[in-house]
Amino acid sequence: MNCSEAKRLMQMALAGDASAAELARLDAHLAECAACARQWEALSGAAAALTSAQPEPLPQGRDLSGAVMAQIAREANGPTAQRSWLAELLGSRPLQAAGAVAATVVCAVILWLAAPGAQALAMLMGGGTSNGY
Ligand SMILES: [Zn+2]
Repeated sequence: MNCSEAKRLMQMALAGDASAAELARLDAHLAECAACARQWEALSGAAAALTSAQPEPLPQGRDLSGAVMAQIAREANGPTAQRSWLAELLGSRPLQAAGAVAATVVCAVILWLAAPGAQALAMLMGGGTSNGY
C-alpha cells in the first residue's frame, strides 16, 4: 500500500466505511510509515474531539434578544445608513420617522384639498405675495 491509498483508507475508516480487511491493511501501513501514522493520529484525534464535543447551550432568551436588537441598532445606525434630519430629531428610529413623514404628507394633502383656493394655500405656505397690488 502506498501513502495516497493509506490516506484514502483513513478517510474511509473515519467515515466508518472501511472493511475489516481494509482497516488491517491500513494498520500495517501505519506500523511502517511514520508520516501516515502521525497523520492518522491527528485525524482520529480530531474526529474523536468532534464526536465527543457537546453543543453549547443557547444563551438566555433575554440576552439573545438584547444581542439581536443591539445588532439591529448597529446596522440601522451604521455609517452606510442614510439618516435624515427627521430621523435624528426623533431619536433615529426609522419606523417612527417614516410614520411622521407620512403623517406630514397626509396633513399637507388634507390642507391642500380643504383649501378654498390657491390664495389660501399661499397663505398656509407663508407666501402672500399675491396680496397688495
Ligand atoms: Zn504512508
